[in-house]
Amino acid sequence: MHSRETVERALRLSSQGLIDREVARLCGVSLGAVQKWRTGARRSQPEGDLRHFHSCPLCHGRALDHRAYAHLLGLYLGDGHILLCGRGVYQLSLACCDDWPGLTEEAASVMAEVIPTSSVSRRRLRGCTEVKSYSKHWVCLFPQHGPGRKHDREIVLDEWQRKIVEECPGLFVRGLMHSDGYRGTNRIRRHFNGADHWYEYPRYLFKNESHDILNLCGQALDMLGVA
Ligand SMILES: [Zn+2]
Repeated sequence: MHSRETVERALRLSSQGLIDREVARLCGVSLGAVQKWRTGARRSQPEGDLRHFHSCPLCHGRALDHRAYAHLLGLYLGDGHILLCGRGVYQLSLACCDDWPGLTEEAASVMAEVIPTSSVSRRRLRGCTEVKSYSKHWVCLFPQHGPGRKHDREIVLDEWQRKIVEECPGLFVRGLMHSDGYRGTNRIRRHFNGADHWYEYPRYLFKNESHDILNLCGQALDMLGVA
């Protein structure tokens, strides 16, 4: 007997396009068990029960967490990239600076919320940690994926993405700032009543090579009433 967790994990991997042999190896079960679960699940369960394994909001109509998506879209446009790994499976990867471990955790958690059926892994690189997840559907969620660098191609949001940004502009800007942004403290001196007075306030900068992405950042800041 295998645990429900193992069966679900196997079905999830199958639904992402992995061959039975690979699923069996990853889950530590026999090839026969994987074949049985996969074909049995297709034959005997009504459509509704399989919805759990259908991972894509666009292809399968699964509900999308708009707040997590707006945040992840900002992270992706700032510092993310999507890579085709073969067999139609894509890797979404975000490079997170090791100076801010809390932001790395936050990136991993929004990635998991956007496609909950794909597990998120981390890889240590020099000075940063790559947070990544595999799914056939990352390209559906980020149709801005294309050959070359983001600043060499046109970045235009689809209508559904634009609506989500309008709904959650703050989280979209949060994603942009946490990937390609900067937050520092400005100190200014004012002299009055015969003495110097110092004031401090946070200062945010966003730097990106793509004019389209800069414009998207500017539009979201306008929605937030930030000049
Ligand atoms: Zn899809």
